[in-house]
Amino acid sequence: MSVGEPTTTNADAGDPAAEAVVDLAGGEPATFLDAMLDVDHPRKAAAADWARTHLRSRTASFDRGRWRAAASAGVLGLRTPVELGGSGRSAVDSLLTFEGLGLGTDDAGLVFALASQVFAMQTALVESGTPDQQRTWLPLLCSGDAIGCFAMTEPDTGSDTAAITTTAVPLAGGSFRIDGEKAWVTLGPVADVVIVFASTDSTKGRWGITAFLVPLDTPGVVVGEVETKSGLHSCPFGRIRFDGCVVGADTVMGKPGAGSAIFTSAVEAERAFLYAAQLGAMERSMAAAVHRARSREQFGRPIGQFQAVSHRIADMKLRHEASRLLVYKAAALHDRGVSVTMAAALAKLQTSESAITSAVDAIRIHGAEGYTEAAGVEMDLRDAVGGLAYSGTSDIQRNIVARMLGVERPVRRP
Ligand SMILES: Cc1cc2nc3c(=O)[nH]c(=O)nc-3n(C[C@H](O)[C@H](O)[C@H](O)COP(=O)(O)OP(=O)(O)OC[C@H]3O[C@@H](n4cnc5c(N)ncnc54)[C@H](O)[C@@H]3O)c2cc1C
Repeated sequence: MSVGEPTTTNADAGDPAAEAVVDLAGGEPATFLDAMLDVDHPRKAAAADWARTHLRSRTASFDRGRWRAAASAGVLGLRTPVELGGSGRSAVDSLLTFEGLGLGTDDAGLVFALASQVFAMQTALVESGTPDQQRTWLPLLCSGDAIGCFAMTEPDTGSDTAAITTTAVPLAGGSFRIDGEKAWVTLGPVADVVIVFASTDSTKGRWGITAFLVPLDTPGVVVGEVETKSGLHSCPFGRIRFDGCVVGADTVMGKPGAGSAIFTSAVEAERAFLYAAQLGAMERSMAAAVHRARSREQFGRPIGQFQAVSHRIADMKLRHEASRLLVYKAAALHDRGVSVTMAAALAKLQTSESAITSAVDAIRIHGAEGYTEAAGVEMDLRDAVGGLAYSGTSDIQRNIVARMLGVERPVRRP
């Protein structure tokens, strides 16, 4: 077995059951350089092969069977420690797997939903859950027996997270009463447990926000319907309302007032890593564009012989490689324990915007056929557009980068 190659525990490759025991979390650890210098890294290739077999063609709505299959292959446990039901893989290893999933299937909604649970919800629970919360939920989340979601955004409060209006009023005996509504919660309509952020002290702004881990069958929780959206169809999202929902002190994550720090840390991980799947999708769409350029003839020759077309594809490649460098750089820094605030913002901004530009270019290269559903490329665009908002908008990423460069601070005059 070569370095980084995930393990298949069934010896007989011809046995149909062999598919069921592929362990995408196995194999030797990969480094940043392994990931950079080998665009077909075995870990990525194994995930792509698995996705081609198990996630063949997108589904119109959430498919619990596919979710369980991904869990069985080890996808949901990638970033959770071994003792809590996961495989404790590094960020670089995990990204190679998600990049492969994005390459192997066009079921982008499902892959996005998996990444959202792994990189946001489970990250927060691993980093800040109490030992009891971790022991109760992480093994279930890794095995696919429970689904988790992460709810900060509200109908009237998106980018300005410090202004959330959901409240958690302390009651006698250490419990809290939660009231408010969360919106566009990924996996919300099918989840079993939510990390919800609420204000326990409105006088303290972001320092008065607390994170709670709340099972969704708690009285007072009302889960909304699946909302329709333009892409990512197999990822359900919707609202969750809290109407006088009383929860115990044991649902608090970290300590009261730590919610904003918990959110920031998890969202930075999400921002840095979620887009690995989009790298795979960009590669898939680039391959389709190359095929189209070579096979479609106009004016008596393949359209790929027109420089306008070939340069467009060269630019797709450039965007893809630049995005890869930034995403894996953020992962490698994270694995070193270094802050990824800047790296995550740059990686997210570059990848989400590039995915859209390249998806439009793929449509251009396919001509009218690119505008049809049958060709599949217009769906890549609709999936990519969601990336303009989730994990923070492009404007917010630019704000972070500019703030970290000190752009807003006036020069002190002597
Ligand atoms: C597919 C998808 C999944 C999602 N999943 C989740 C989830 O699981 N949990 C969750 O909590 N949320 C989730 N969200 C919500 C997401 O986090 C928000 O959409 C995002 O934070 C932006 O908030 P908003 O949509 O309210 O936009 P707004 O904050 O209202 O922004 C609107 C526009 O104003 C701009 N703007 C706002 N403030 C500034 C500023 N200071 N400087 C410059 N420009 C600014 C924005 O860039 C944007 O262009 C999801 C969204 C999508 C699309």
